[in-house]
Amino acid sequence: MRNNEGILIVVSGFSGAGKGTLMKRLVEEYEGYALSISATTRPPRPGEEDGREYFFLSREQFEKRIAEHALIEHAEYCGNYYGTPRDYVEKKLSEGRDVILEIEIQGALKIKEQYPDALLLFVSTPDAAELRRRLSGRGTETEEVIQKRLCRAAREAEGIEIYDYIVINDDLETCVKELHGIIAAAHHAPGRNGEFIKKMRRELEEN
Ligand code: ADP
Ligand code: 5GP
Repeated sequence: MRNNEGILIVVSGFSGAGKGTLMKRLVEEYEGYALSISATTRPPRPGEEDGREYFFLSREQFEKRIAEHALIEHAEYCGNYYGTPRDYVEKKLSEGRDVILEIEIQGALKIKEQYPDALLLFVSTPDAAELRRRLSGRGTETEEVIQKRLCRAAREAEGIEIYDYIVINDDLETCVKELHGIIAAAHHAPGRNGEFIKKMRRELEEN
């Protein structure tokens, strides 16, 4: 039996670890997930569409969203702003959906402060060589940007302990199953089943 309270799930990981690919598979293969679409000032990659992968904004538009408190969190990553729109997240959580935020580590920390019950997951490749292979293989960044992202990964590796679970994206399908399994298990934590526990206590008192 699954309870009706939606979980706020943060998924972070080194650039190129496969987060985007994994999240796409997760929402295709299982029901109940809502994937938040972030705002960013980075330019779209070939094939990316405004409103599907990201809301692509100018710096001015982004700063206006910050001033309006329209973002739950925002961070600067390799020279661009990224942030999570508030409306969608709050709406989907209230509908009982598990909401996924695919965000970097500074954002993860801010979410943990505001939503202490959030589940924080970190995705890695099996080793650093595979990370570089995937980043280069994606073919969407220049060598300079790849280098920046690898430097950033080295700094992010310092903060992994704040996450609840780490998953290794070696075989894609196995990793999708592991992620879903962790989230499914989190639904069974007593802290997320307060209503059920109260109901059982009440019924037992009445006996
Ligand atoms: P991220 O969103 O973490 O930056 P992507 O999802 O864009 O990473 O994946 C980076 C590259 O690695 C893509 O070309 C993707 O097809 C590939 N990839 C993702 N997962 C795997 C995997 N398990 N095995 C091999 N290649 C993968
Ligand atoms: P990319 O440019 O590869 O799409 O994303 C770069 C980094 O920004 C990734 O680590 C991604 O998880 C992170 N990111 C994407 N959206 C957000 C967001 O809304 N907030 C924060 N803090 N990070 C984000």
